[in-house]
Amino acid sequence: MSKVVIIRCESYDKEQVYQGIKRGVDILGGIRQFVAPSEKILLKPNMLRSKKMESGCTTHPAVFEAVIRLLEEANCTRLVYGDSPGMGAPEKVAQDVGLAGVAKAHGIPLGVFSKGQSVAFPKGKSTKAFELAQTVIDSDAIISLSKMKTHGLTRITGAIKNQFGCVYGFNKGASHARFPDALTFSNMLVDLNLMLKPRLFIMDGIIAMEGNGPASGTPIPMNCLILSDDPVAIDATFARMVALDPSYVPPIVAGAKRGLGVCDEDQIMLLGDDFKSLINRDFSVERIPVKSENTIALSRLKYVRNFLTRKPVVIKERCISCGACVASCPLEEKAIAFREVGGRRIPTYNYHRCIRCYCCQEMCPQKAIVVKTPFLGKLFIYRKSSGEE
Ligand code: SF4
Ligand code: SF4
Repeated sequence: MSKVVIIRCESYDKEQVYQGIKRGVDILGGIRQFVAPSEKILLKPNMLRSKKMESGCTTHPAVFEAVIRLLEEANCTRLVYGDSPGMGAPEKVAQDVGLAGVAKAHGIPLGVFSKGQSVAFPKGKSTKAFELAQTVIDSDAIISLSKMKTHGLTRITGAIKNQFGCVYGFNKGASHARFPDALTFSNMLVDLNLMLKPRLFIMDGIIAMEGNGPASGTPIPMNCLILSDDPVAIDATFARMVALDPSYVPPIVAGAKRGLGVCDEDQIMLLGDDFKSLINRDFSVERIPVKSENTIALSRLKYVRNFLTRKPVVIKERCISCGACVASCPLEEKAIAFREVGGRRIPTYNYHRCIRCYCCQEMCPQKAIVVKTPFLGKLFIYRKSSGEE
């Protein structure tokens, strides 16, 4: 059995968030259950990119600060924080999302996330080494502070995917090219979690993100914090909270299969506040299975593939031709490039080449890229059956 603690919390009022997180951690046995004062502890929030803290995109500073307070009270003072953003330097993103101010007030340094080293992981199933940020290598323990959000590639993103930011710099993009669909990518995430073994996972779901996540979606109050030492159980609980079948979320499926954690309801002990009162069946998320869009079978159907599989689409009216989408495409021969359309430079896809990693959609600052499922795909590919092929 894995314990998952649900804390109802309806605002980012500092004291309320602190009391909520303290109560949640106490239910799990107290902070000393997870870390010791002698250890160098990395706080790993979601710092995907510069966004307003109310956007629901990044871990809120109030959650970050509550965890810092808890650790300081337990005499854990060797703290460091950081993430490898999808766009922008860690220093700038930390400033923009409100974490740098909190860290400064508590004397906590931003770790080194722009460079790192290759670290062997012989037990890995998908890879035998990860390019880890230097601070991740130098830390004794990780506390993972994820955000509750939707995701174009894996339906939702939460506790498991949060560790992807421990891979530094351009290696994140390269990983998308190397693990080019949701299923292989998820196995890589599971390996990464098995290697890093964060001690405690806290998900910020006070204001979550629905719709076109993980960066261009809509903020929505889900009024909760979810805590556990099991990232699979947290993500499965998040999925159930938004009426999404956890078997449609590849990191959950892969994580449960490979012993990272548990997914079945009867293996998860829900503690804390009432879970049912937090369920939101109207939460906007694609409730269809994830299918491998790069299977041999589909690639043989090169010319019909684009009428069947999900794909990123540019909404021209919103585009400001900034180029972030083109820059973020991880392929050596990019699958998106500018084209002159009516006197304007508009990014245009080469869908035959595109691996559907959705980095472009993730990095667009204008919400100008959406993921669309073709009608025929809904009929023939993404039928509501099983989440894994
Ligand atoms: S065009 Fe977008 S979805 Fe396609 S491979 Fe490039 S970044 Fe990924
Ligand atoms: S990132 Fe968005 S706004 Fe910028 S060029 Fe691409 S589609 Fe347009």
